[in-house]
Amino acid sequence: MLFGPRPGRQVRRAEAVSPTRRGLLALGCACCLGLAPISQAAAQSPEVARHLAAARDAAGEDLRAWLALGKAAMPSPEAGPSIEALMAQPPPPPAWAFDNLGFVGAKWVSAWALKTSDGVILLDALNNEDEAERLIEGGMRRLGLDPGAIRQIVVTHGHGDHYGGAAWLKQRHGAPILLSEADWRMMETGLEFDVPQWGRPPARDVVVADGATIRQGDTTVRVLSTPGHSPGTISLLFDAKAGPRTHRALLWGGTSFNFGRRPERMQRIASYIAGTRRAKQVAAREKVEVLLSNHSGFDEADQKLQRRVQGRPNPFVMGQETVQRALTVIEECALATQAAWSA
Ligand SMILES: [Zn+2]
Repeated sequence: MLFGPRPGRQVRRAEAVSPTRRGLLALGCACCLGLAPISQAAAQSPEVARHLAAARDAAGEDLRAWLALGKAAMPSPEAGPSIEALMAQPPPPPAWAFDNLGFVGAKWVSAWALKTSDGVILLDALNNEDEAERLIEGGMRRLGLDPGAIRQIVVTHGHGDHYGGAAWLKQRHGAPILLSEADWRMMETGLEFDVPQWGRPPARDVVVADGATIRQGDTTVRVLSTPGHSPGTISLLFDAKAGPRTHRALLWGGTSFNFGRRPERMQRIASYIAGTRRAKQVAAREKVEVLLSNHSGFDEADQKLQRRVQGRPNPFVMGQETVQRALTVIEECALATQAAWSA
């Protein structure tokens, strides 16, 4: 089901933005635009080129999807596909990435069901009620999970492709919605992005701060503040289970630098870089072996789910060194963007 905006609410509509901005929006939230290499010609300065080269070095062959972030360093990003086209892509089938982590997402944007000993923590809520019903509830059933067992809904950031189905799910199942204070405030005072296809933002509910621990049954999810992509993006640390083993996982809560020509864009990219550096330290200390995104365009979750074969190494287990490289790609693309915007 599609929703119209609430009367009187000041929102940015997709049709009200320039083609370039629309391209950035699509790039920012979608990033399923393939593995396009970063153009050397687009580099505006030696510093931009140096950071993009460092990103490519860190990416190697296996992490090229993350290089899409570097497109923001280009002077004139190409217009990306429309939101309608992104949302119309056939969804991947729901599947287990780990014994306790099920993918219940769309092609463009992901949602994850984290199974605990007492119900499910839902990580992000897709674009709208229709997707929440079809992909999250339907996907959970196909994975043998009762949607009525959703106990908490954690939303990584206040953009509609992640909160769109949250209010409807809360209404159905009574589960609280958890978001950072900064993004609750942004959602209340003026959405920075909106399109009619997204569900309305949920009413303020639970605030989670940096360092908070979300507990459910035998499971804990720790909150790491990584602002930049939105004012209050959070990333999530938890254990992914595989038989007798557990692997520490980090779900990166906000991906691209889609804030474009906002007045506070330099501050936003600086906080993104600081958050990425801190996440690298935390990931090293916590021995994080799995880096997930909420867009398959980055972590290639849809492809990894297809490749996953019981009895073989799980493609989601990247190893600590690869996780560090991926975070370096993110950091260097952000530094390139900062340099390009400062040039
Ligand atoms: Zn976003």
